[in-house]
Amino acid sequence: MSGSFSVAGSRVDYGSHRLHPNTDPRVLADLQGLLGDDLQLRPRNGRLHVGDAWVGFPLRALDLARRLPPGLLARIGLDSLTRPLRRRVPGNYAEALRGSLGPALYESLYEPFAQKLWGLPGAGLDVEQARRRVTADTPWKIAAKMLRRGHGNGQGQVFRYPVRGFGQIAETLADAAVDAGTDLRLDTNVTSVEVLDDRVRLTTDTGATLSAPQLFTTIPLPVLARITTPQPPAGALHASAGLRFRAMLLVYVVHDGRPWTAYDAHYVPDPSTPVTRVSEPANYRESRHDPADSTVLCFEIPCSLDDEVWHASDDDLAALAADTVSRLGLPTLRVVGVETRRLRRVYPIYTTGYQRHLEGIDSWADELPRVTTFGRLGMFVHDNSHHAIAMAYDAVEALGDEGFDSAAWAAARRRFAGHVVED
Ligand SMILES: Cc1cc2nc3c(=O)[nH]c(=O)nc-3n(C[C@H](O)[C@H](O)[C@H](O)COP(=O)(O)OP(=O)(O)OC[C@H]3O[C@@H](n4cnc5c(N)ncnc54)[C@H](O)[C@@H]3O)c2cc1C
Repeated sequence: MSGSFSVAGSRVDYGSHRLHPNTDPRVLADLQGLLGDDLQLRPRNGRLHVGDAWVGFPLRALDLARRLPPGLLARIGLDSLTRPLRRRVPGNYAEALRGSLGPALYESLYEPFAQKLWGLPGAGLDVEQARRRVTADTPWKIAAKMLRRGHGNGQGQVFRYPVRGFGQIAETLADAAVDAGTDLRLDTNVTSVEVLDDRVRLTTDTGATLSAPQLFTTIPLPVLARITTPQPPAGALHASAGLRFRAMLLVYVVHDGRPWTAYDAHYVPDPSTPVTRVSEPANYRESRHDPADSTVLCFEIPCSLDDEVWHASDDDLAALAADTVSRLGLPTLRVVGVETRRLRRVYPIYTTGYQRHLEGIDSWADELPRVTTFGRLGMFVHDNSHHAIAMAYDAVEALGDEGFDSAAWAAARRRFAGHVVED
């Protein structure tokens, strides 16, 4: 998901990606060492559509006060004052955020986003979803965060991004691994995993077998459970079928001229379009490699595999993109090309009570000797790339001369529970 590829001579990502400032310092130091000046420090310059207004994103206090409809601003203020009256243990995402942020902010932003991102109303999502996704959970905390930003401490105002697209991070890490002796096989599907007494044996779709004393895997956890012997207990395997993932359709529109806008990304909670975000990758970097006379826009459409939009033609998707920008009052597209990418598993969906479906295979995988599962789909967690990389560091550190240190890995897993996703 954090790779890049070229469309009409411009490097693009699988949706808007940036390296966030809260990257673990040891990971950041290594990436800086490997990428050098190619890893640029950039100011964030996004916009969020609320009501009928565009406000700067990340949110800025003065901008909000100037641009938000006064009625909405007053309701948000009133909700903050009445927060103590809403204190009760929340049963789901909607109750958690209505309670902490207040109904006005929840209904204008978080509920419509939830519906589009995960395909469910907030009442159908687990409380854990609110914790994983919303760092500042009261209007006062949001205001404090905005004011801190005003004093320029950098968090949330800047990000890092490689000159050749976000995927340059993974490519550079891969090159370093190969230089260090790694045998890297891309486009190779693992079809079975056998845990033996002294090693783990993999079979791939090319019919090759590979074996090693320890397996580190980021294969989606329910898939790992299906292809591994010994199998999880039947009940756990059956329950894991209830784990759901949201798919993502990415529409890349090549626009004649550059830039399309000065912004890096537009965030769109509006229910009138399935698009959640429009990004312009060339605005994420200063790069002499980018074409001078065209730019590519990426439209993110979270969906299910049985949604009509998942099967739509490129022409229909270009029309949807054009309709979306016109509804939002954004500059007209001068379309000279369209490409699409379809990712089947992007967001783990935390439906209410999802833990019941997860806990059986999670503890099976945790106790499986010689196998360590991590990463976004390997743990069924919402995470950023820097979290996935930090997990890999911890996994490798747990592997000592004496074998795999399960206690160190268990402690690392407890730390991962504190990861919160940044947008
Ligand atoms: C739209 C979007 C925006 C995002 N924005 C950001 C951002 O701004 N900043 C940020 O840090 N992160 C961002 N992320 C999150 C980031 O992309 C992920 O956290 C990261 O890519 C997770 O890495 P991973 O290796 O765990 O999972 P993945 O990238 O999903 O990698 C898992 C790999 O396993 C492979 N695989 C699956 N099954 C098999 C099999 N049977 N055999 C062999 N291989 C298999 C898959 O093909 C895949 O390559 C974003 C994600 C999305 C979708």
